[in-house]
Amino acid sequence: MAKKHKGPAIGIDLGTTYSCVAVWQDQNNTAEIIHNDQGNRITPSFVAFTNDQRLIGDAAKNQAASNPANTVFDAKRLIGRKFSDSVIQNDMELWPFKVVSGFDDKPEIIVKYKGEEKRLCAEEISSMVLTKMREIAEKFLESPVKNAVVTVPAYFNDSQRKATKDAGVIAGLNVMRIINEPTAAGLAYGLQKRESNIGKRNVFIFDLGGGTFDVSLLTLKGDSFDVKATSGDTHLGGEDFDNRMVHHLVKEFRRKNKVDLSGNARALRRLRTACERAKRTLSYDTEATIDLDSIHQGIDFYSSITRAKFEQMNMNLFEKCMDTVNSCLADAKMDRGSVDDVVLVGGSSRIPKVRQLLQEFFQGKELCKSINPDEAVAYGAAIQAALVSEGIKSVPNLILRDVTPLSLGVELQGNLMSVVIPRNTSIPVKKTKSYHTVYDNQSYVTIKVYEGERTRASDNNLLGLFDFSVPPAPRCSIPIKECFSIDSDGILNVSAEEETNASKKAITITNENGRLSREEIEKMILQAEIFKAQDMEFKKKVKAINALDDYLYKVRKVMEDNCVSSKLTTVDKEKINSAMIKGKSLIDNNQQEDAFVFVDFLKELESIFESSMNKIKKGK
Ligand code: AMP
Repeated sequence: MAKKHKGPAIGIDLGTTYSCVAVWQDQNNTAEIIHNDQGNRITPSFVAFTNDQRLIGDAAKNQAASNPANTVFDAKRLIGRKFSDSVIQNDMELWPFKVVSGFDDKPEIIVKYKGEEKRLCAEEISSMVLTKMREIAEKFLESPVKNAVVTVPAYFNDSQRKATKDAGVIAGLNVMRIINEPTAAGLAYGLQKRESNIGKRNVFIFDLGGGTFDVSLLTLKGDSFDVKATSGDTHLGGEDFDNRMVHHLVKEFRRKNKVDLSGNARALRRLRTACERAKRTLSYDTEATIDLDSIHQGIDFYSSITRAKFEQMNMNLFEKCMDTVNSCLADAKMDRGSVDDVVLVGGSSRIPKVRQLLQEFFQGKELCKSINPDEAVAYGAAIQAALVSEGIKSVPNLILRDVTPLSLGVELQGNLMSVVIPRNTSIPVKKTKSYHTVYDNQSYVTIKVYEGERTRASDNNLLGLFDFSVPPAPRCSIPIKECFSIDSDGILNVSAEEETNASKKAITITNENGRLSREEIEKMILQAEIFKAQDMEFKKKVKAINALDDYLYKVRKVMEDNCVSSKLTTVDKEKINSAMIKGKSLIDNNQQEDAFVFVDFLKELESIFESSMNKIKKGK
């Protein structure tokens, strides 16, 4: 039986554009989505840096237009990828923040914080979002939270999964499980349906979010949830639809005004926000307007876009989604008529054209909209968190079997991919395959582990490699057993073993390709603590400044009252007035000061003022 974790456990949907957190409520027998400090059930996955503070979530997104170069989003599109990856190179064109190549081609984001340049990797940005989600939960639960289940797109590769786990560690979380987003949504849907005792059902999850697209086919039967196949695109979602609209309007602006706004980061940010809003409107209306005052060089920009135009500019992306649906069914060896329910998940599944194409694909079947597309993934993650937590009584004893999204194997002579674990195999899984040496007296074998579907090994994603020494012998006479195992988080371990002369050797590799080292993670944990301490200090300082400002206001009002001030001695009046001037100047020039300066000065001012007032009371 799997190990159970102590203490409260939350489910976090760490999204490209928005994140959501939920917790299982034993007393209510259900998972609950937790509101953030703004009263919102979803939180923008944004982090911003200013001269004096770090902002996460709504506060970061709200100031994005005025601070575009230091407002970071889309970390999920960077995580676990190389800087030279074409996906990153393309995305960079539209990011207002700077990304550079760091050690080992790892992308690093450059921001200015407290007047200094900082380099951060995607794991650190994601860890800040995770920390925010944890704090939202802690406030709601009124207790510290350590344990979490975090979701990832089903099509995330091994590097992206591990990098997400690292982000959790930097955030100080014990990531109990990494689960696939559509699987989590399937759990949420299945739990809802389970109550109506529906028997065996094939459920197709269509999850089109802000940055990623995932589909999964699950078979639900009683307490068993079996993923049959999964497919997707880790770079397809609402952001791409926004981008198309942004490009279209940049061109229109250039045509109308003969100037190019694309180099103006603030203008681009404002345009992008307006496009996202227009896109949402087009899900309910047939036309949306863009109205931006003085967007670039003092020029106002007014435009409108019809739903038909929006559909036309994104049609090839929508069709790409349907191709993925088709390939998932083919992988599951199931025809479309065998699917009982088609469940919509992810904010972009609200787009009418997407719904129409999907419904047509499933021969007119009514699409299921009974679960909230923005919240289902976090809801499912909270169910999974409850399942692996100690002491939760009311969660049903569900059994979830997921699959591995990509084939895993080794390179054979001639750059051929030899698959050890085919894609869509149920996990956890352990498979062994035997290979032989290929030369006479070969002294070692280099084992290269790949992930992907291409025949040529080098066209796939290299996860890692290691050398394995073998005793000299004629070719083909030394059998090498290679064992691949994937745990329930989808994380892979590979070991090799040779059995000659009764000797046995084994080496285990985990994919460390591009991954943060233990030391780097520790450094980042420390850095995260420094950021946290600075945030706390900033909050303390703002609180102290506000308290001093309130008190100064109160003193000023009293001093303006002639009845009181006329009773003060000249010395006391001067003392109070000069303290008020000092207080005001401290507030006006607050940049360099620490919180305690304001706290101490407030005490000093209180003491001066109170003692003068006491003298009046005593009639001195
Ligand atoms: P998610 O990652 O599931 O939170 O989805 C976020 C994405 O859904 C963003 O790109 C949003 O712009 C998009 N979205 C949310 N609501 C709508 C809507 N009504 N119509 C179109 N897209 C939407």
